[in-house]
Amino acid sequence: MRYSHYINVVRLLIFLIIGAVLFLLVNQWIYTREALEGLEIELIQKTPYWQRSHKRELKDWHDVEAMASDAARNGLGEHGKPAYITNLSKRKLEHDLSKKNGFNALLSDMISVNRSLPDIRDQGCQKLKYFADLPTVSIIIPFYNEHFSALVRSVHSIINRTPAELIKEIILVDDFSDVSNLKKPLDEYVEQNFPKVDIIRFRKRQGLIAARLAGAVKAVADVLVFMDSHVEVNYNWLPPLLHEIVLNKRTAVCPMIDVIEDATFEYTAQDEGARGAFDWILDYKRLPLLESAKKNRTQPFENPIMAGGLFAISREWFWELDGYDDGLDIWGGEQYELSFKIWMCGGRLLDVPCSRVGHIFRSDNWTGVSEDRKEDYLHKNYKRVAEVWMDDYKNYVYKHARGIYEKLDAGDLTKQLALREKLHCKSFKWFIENVAFDLVKTYPPKGITDFAYGQVRSVGAPKFCLDTLGRPDYRIVGVKDCEATSIFPSRRQDWSLSEDHDLRMRGEEYCLQTADHKPDSQVLLYDCSYGNKNQLWYYNRRRKWLVYGPKRLFCLEARPASKHVVVNRCRTNFPLMQWDFVHVNNTLLDTYFETMP
Ligand code: UDP
Ligand code: MN
Repeated sequence: MRYSHYINVVRLLIFLIIGAVLFLLVNQWIYTREALEGLEIELIQKTPYWQRSHKRELKDWHDVEAMASDAARNGLGEHGKPAYITNLSKRKLEHDLSKKNGFNALLSDMISVNRSLPDIRDQGCQKLKYFADLPTVSIIIPFYNEHFSALVRSVHSIINRTPAELIKEIILVDDFSDVSNLKKPLDEYVEQNFPKVDIIRFRKRQGLIAARLAGAVKAVADVLVFMDSHVEVNYNWLPPLLHEIVLNKRTAVCPMIDVIEDATFEYTAQDEGARGAFDWILDYKRLPLLESAKKNRTQPFENPIMAGGLFAISREWFWELDGYDDGLDIWGGEQYELSFKIWMCGGRLLDVPCSRVGHIFRSDNWTGVSEDRKEDYLHKNYKRVAEVWMDDYKNYVYKHARGIYEKLDAGDLTKQLALREKLHCKSFKWFIENVAFDLVKTYPPKGITDFAYGQVRSVGAPKFCLDTLGRPDYRIVGVKDCEATSIFPSRRQDWSLSEDHDLRMRGEEYCLQTADHKPDSQVLLYDCSYGNKNQLWYYNRRRKWLVYGPKRLFCLEARPASKHVVVNRCRTNFPLMQWDFVHVNNTLLDTYFETMP
């Protein structure tokens, strides 16, 4: 009895010991598993997206709760409705702040920084799903003297409408603003409201391009997103952008840019969407959507040139392209540089219609940023881009600018040219023919179709060139001392034998014609009228004649003594009837008679 009791106690003890050991083991196993999982999660976060495997499941990224709570909001400017300041005593302040900022900054202060926006996407976007496993982003926002509430509204809108797990960080770059509330008060605001925001502060003004680069250098996420400092992102804006980058890492993507109206903060679409382009003074232009994009309003489409302010690009691809040319100063041209690089060096650029971001386009009466640069940085930037990327097409840019570029030194371009070599980038001709294939047709460079253009110098009186002698609406033409710049003379001496077979002020609508059709009749400027036989001219290269009229019997003759020009029966070996056109397009001129109107 005692003995069996003893055995029972031992059994119980053994049982207890085994239990305890088992308990400890299971516990340890669970603990290690958790720790390992944690480690795994950490590892996943540390490994760049592109170097780890990821699931290809799709998910609906809409933040339904946030959208519902936005829908319930009420107040000034909510839902992107136009807002007005009714208090008459504030009119002057409103006016002054509007002029200074280029938008209604006083109204901005009165609208909630968390305001709701209208969901103006195509309805189809609401149903679209994107990869559940997306890369993280560093959002980079340069600012220079940005109005405080517009700046923080930009950040609030990002926080409110972006999945938190996708935002690694938001980097504000202060381009040496001199507004006091952008210093300590902004630091404090960020400290209290935005744990993921960091501020880089420049010690001198370096411009938007340097600021974006500084942000990109600091950024650690898989994807860089560049933003302006006066934007509001719309519902579900980020996943559709990242989805495209996951599909192809060498993709840069732009959201559709909506308009936040500068006076009322009304939020509207710009238009149905368009493709980006430029004209030959390098103003940003737009090309119509292709039929395929019109048919499918939710699908990303190829975009030749980004607008510049808002886009996402994988960090690796951005640096493979060497970021921006760091010789670009202050503002401008960088959208061309990066777009050319992206396309010509093996990538692609897309506009994503289901991703929408509002941007305040400044009003025309904006007094502008204070200018501390004396030099013409914009054209210097353009020249850098043209020299490195545009091959022979750069000449169109130069011709259109009438001499601006000749005086400008583009600076050292070795690094940029070497990059183009290293990446085996395609030619600009390839870009124009394959990507921006409708650009030349839509924005034809002047002179591209001219038979001859530029200064027209008299052979018999070589000091003299054909000249309008005054305002073109005075209608007079004659000869005058040739200007020194023969390729880019002023408009008074810049002529073209145009594709319409007339002789006109280059790129303008003033054509040479005689008052009557008799010998010795004076030549005047008339409004060009296509097909008018009395405006027909031809350049005979062999005889150096400017031949006039449908029968081609008359030739332009200089009268240096009176500074007139007249037409008379053509005579050979008569130097006052001979002219040198500074630039002749021989191949085109060979086809002159085939293309007669
Ligand atoms: N910006 C800057 N430094 C400058 C000029 C502009 O940091 O010297 C910033 C500006 O605050 C804005 C962005 O760059 O966030 C683009 O400038 P802006 O909005 O004036 O250009 P736009 O949108 O009119 O092309
Ligand atoms: Mn802007």
